[in-house]
Amino acid sequence: MSTQPSPIFRFAPSPNGHLHLGHALSALLNARAAELLGGKALLRIENIDLARCTPVLEQEMLEDLEWLGYPLDTPVLRQSERFEAYQTALGKLEALGLVYRATLTRAEIKRFVEEQEVLGQRWPRDPDGAPLYPGDRIVLSEDELNARLIGDAPYALRLNMKAALEQVNQPLSWQEAGPEGPSLTETPTPIAASPEDWGDIILTRKDTPTSYHLSVVVDDAAQGITDVLRGTDLYQATSVHRLLQVLLDLPEPVYRHHRLVLDEDGQKLSKSSQSTSLRALRHAGWTRAAVLERIGLER
Ligand code: GLU
Repeated sequence: MSTQPSPIFRFAPSPNGHLHLGHALSALLNARAAELLGGKALLRIENIDLARCTPVLEQEMLEDLEWLGYPLDTPVLRQSERFEAYQTALGKLEALGLVYRATLTRAEIKRFVEEQEVLGQRWPRDPDGAPLYPGDRIVLSEDELNARLIGDAPYALRLNMKAALEQVNQPLSWQEAGPEGPSLTETPTPIAASPEDWGDIILTRKDTPTSYHLSVVVDDAAQGITDVLRGTDLYQATSVHRLLQVLLDLPEPVYRHHRLVLDEDGQKLSKSSQSTSLRALRHAGWTRAAVLERIGLER
């Protein structure tokens, strides 16, 4: 008799546009892995961006998933109903003294970075290519900073990465296993995490009381996720997720990152492109079998 708990996977799309072929691959790999390993695949709706994630898009997303055959008979977690849980997690990080109010706008960061680079100094970028947050004190005068901190200027709460790593005070790693086929049952490999590559990440914004990184770790724990299976575009983000799990004392899932579906030009698919939206393909008469073939899955 096995003593291993059944694995719990999740597909976690954001209804801020229509699902495309890449989402179909992610959803089906999760469903298939869960089935093969005798576990479950849950659904989480990542709709913290209340302006862009609409109920209509959510409904259409559920229709697409049903058509694909993703299991929808388990309780669905909607991030828009979880803001309190994210605030609690933020409170824990605040209590550790790791959170600060950051007021630089995107344009101010850009200008600062350009000024540095004109002087011949390359400013570090995160793995997604965005400049690391320079810190308010480097850019603003003392008076300007004080005025912003007491006024109602827009701000984000950021994690003080240096202080967070000092508190953790040990090398971090995550467990990475295979995403499909025979690799699913292979023993996971430890991967060295480097959250410092992301600098002072955003935890919450003035008008969105959470962020992707914060809510994803809180919810993976809340849903009892044992296996996170998602696209390789989120591979580097795992470093941040591992750090937040350690700081918040959350369980550690196994990670599995899958290949991305590319368009004819070899580019990553985007939600704004109609040509690869599942909905558009369905309306154009594509069958489920044709979708499976296009994303390289056997029936
Ligand atoms: N909501 C994210 C997306 O649609 C996926 C998050 C995750 O799997 O960690 O890309």
